Amino acid sequence: MLRYPKDLLTLIAYLRKLPGVGKKTAERYAFHLLEWEGKDLHEFADGVATLKERVQACAECGCLMDGVRCSFCDHERRDRNQLCIIATPRDTYSIEETGNYRGLYHVLGALLSPLDGKTPENLNLPQLQKRIEGLGTKEIILALDSTLEGDATSLYLKEQFEKYGIEVSRLALGLPIGSSLDFVDEGTLSQAFSGRQKF
Ligand SMILES: [Zn+2]
Repeated sequence: MLRYPKDLLTLIAYLRKLPGVGKKTAERYAFHLLEWEGKDLHEFADGVATLKERVQACAECGCLMDGVRCSFCDHERRDRNQLCIIATPRDTYSIEETGNYRGLYHVLGALLSPLDGKTPENLNLPQLQKRIEGLGTKEIILALDSTLEGDATSLYLKEQFEKYGIEVSRLALGLPIGSSLDFVDEGTLSQAFSGRQKF
């Protein structure tokens, strides 16, 4: 069998790490990249190489920052009484698009999943607790996926924070079971937000 040149094989192997990209698609992308102009390839490669240094997470809320200031932590413009707890920085953007929420965010970074070794220690709760005390949070909104892991995490967090007299609500249960915020359309998410229920 004729084999592709080694460097092309390496590229294909990397492309296959992307979600939804199988062998055929990876090969198609790799051959497509070969047709790009050198200048574009360099810009693309440089952008990828330094992505993690240039796009950083806010030390306070965990959301992604553009530059040195975190726009999600802008206490002048946002309601510090509300804290929305999300799993990944990307969820912020889905929620912002609904235009229904003006409070602050907290990125958990992980969900409880004992089978994958994700225990409460992975949730960095002491930092979250410190933040809630510092802000004087009145309402916590749990915006975690409607999956086993999301449900387990929501339940755990509710138990942790309700004892401090903070109102804990969860996105309305209209969200389809097993759904990740990634795949929920804007209208559904917006409804889930306005219809959030005490949890
Ligand atoms: Zn922030």
